[in-house]
Amino acid sequence: MHQMTLAEIARGLADKKFSSEELTKVLLARIAQLDPQLNSFISLTEDLALQQAKAADARRANGESGALLGAPIAHKDLFCTQGIRTSCGSKMLDNFKAPYDATVVAKLAAAGAVTLGKTNMDEFAMGSANESSYYGAVKNPWNLEHVPGGSSGGSAAAVAARLLPAATATDTGGSIRQPAAFTNLTGLKPTYGRVSRWGMIAYASSLDQGGPLARTAEDCAILLQGMAGFDANDSTSIDEPVPDYSASLNTSLQGLRIGVPKEYFSAGLDPRIAELIHNSVKALEKLGAVIKEISLPNMQHAIPAYYVIAPAEASSNLSRFDGVRFGYRCEDPKNLEDLYKRSRGEGFGTEVQRRIMVGAYALSAGYYDAYYLKAQKIRRLVKNDFMAAFNEVDIILGPTTPNPAWKLGAKNSDPVAAYLEDVYTITANLAGLPGLSMPAGFVDGLPVGVQLLAPYFQEGRLLNVAHQYQLNTDWHTRTPQGF
Ligand code: GLN
Repeated sequence: MHQMTLAEIARGLADKKFSSEELTKVLLARIAQLDPQLNSFISLTEDLALQQAKAADARRANGESGALLGAPIAHKDLFCTQGIRTSCGSKMLDNFKAPYDATVVAKLAAAGAVTLGKTNMDEFAMGSANESSYYGAVKNPWNLEHVPGGSSGGSAAAVAARLLPAATATDTGGSIRQPAAFTNLTGLKPTYGRVSRWGMIAYASSLDQGGPLARTAEDCAILLQGMAGFDANDSTSIDEPVPDYSASLNTSLQGLRIGVPKEYFSAGLDPRIAELIHNSVKALEKLGAVIKEISLPNMQHAIPAYYVIAPAEASSNLSRFDGVRFGYRCEDPKNLEDLYKRSRGEGFGTEVQRRIMVGAYALSAGYYDAYYLKAQKIRRLVKNDFMAAFNEVDIILGPTTPNPAWKLGAKNSDPVAAYLEDVYTITANLAGLPGLSMPAGFVDGLPVGVQLLAPYFQEGRLLNVAHQYQLNTDWHTRTPQGF
């Protein structure tokens, strides 16, 4: 039962082969048995899950239908869930119970999805390895000595290990696509503004975007359908109609123009990954796509720009955690300043403190123009590169990451080494474009992802290309041993 995709579950529930309650019990037992190896959950919500599953079964018995009605999922622990701990992977929010549901959580619950729990993540979504969580590192089910990627590593590890079919995640600089690549999943970062950020604890507000992590493009279409849409509570939400993502999955790829940026194949890319990317290009060519070499000349400046903008926004967003209004408060503060200093010093981990300091520095008088403003100008250049490229092609294709998942601890002493691994993913966030990662093969037994980028609001095109690719390849069906 645990091997089923969301699409298969929807069919099974519709055909009354099993109930949502039965499935939920099987998956909760599986999580209890296997998750101690992975640490992919921060909180389990068994009671809520069983209650939601029973309610979904009752709705089906009353004649209701819907792909998510009774489907088990989990939420990354930065989506606020009313009355349930929402920790953001931080000691700062270890005791925080959200007073309301995030829009994404409310929409999925209304569609009948069953919440099994809240998944582990890098603290405040800062990281690429899921090692900065207050609740401990998450392990990659493909090799327990390796990281699952981050910051949505808990969602990725849980779905890859078949503890559940799909989960929500967020992507500020790659945190949906990179863990998808590292764990053999399909993950989609939507266009900025497509999915509401209301109730999603902010890291870098101009870059953050929620999206689905699942095993197939077909399942990402189902989950995105439940997440996307205008929300008046989010001032950056965009009022565009939401298309039927499942309806366009079977469009032919004949004549689709795919651009492959020459800058992607520079020295930093593992040659074995380069070969797998070339294989995926050939597979899409066979399906009728036309391949064209393109250029993204400003790509080299994207990492330094991102690592100024994201910490700058984070330093501002995280100023609300002051020991007064939310979360952790130090013991016996001597005065207000001591309360601020010690609550923040004790509540935030090392990486979060590093980013707050970098961000506050970049925003300070005298440095603002040199760093923050400069980074914003680079951001525009990165976007312009994409706009020029999308005049010539329909999709941009390349690797999701330059290397496969590294060993736990391997980059802990060198944060910049980890930042450099984001080279292929962060440009989409800087430009606000949608991007998808899908399985493309293995290197040393570890999964490799291929990334597809599309123009604004072309999530359907990404899902269509990925689905056609998955009909003709079987990488996405591989299961990690022991799970
Ligand atoms: N690795 C990037 C960072 O640490 C991206 C994280 C994310 O997308 N949340 O900022």
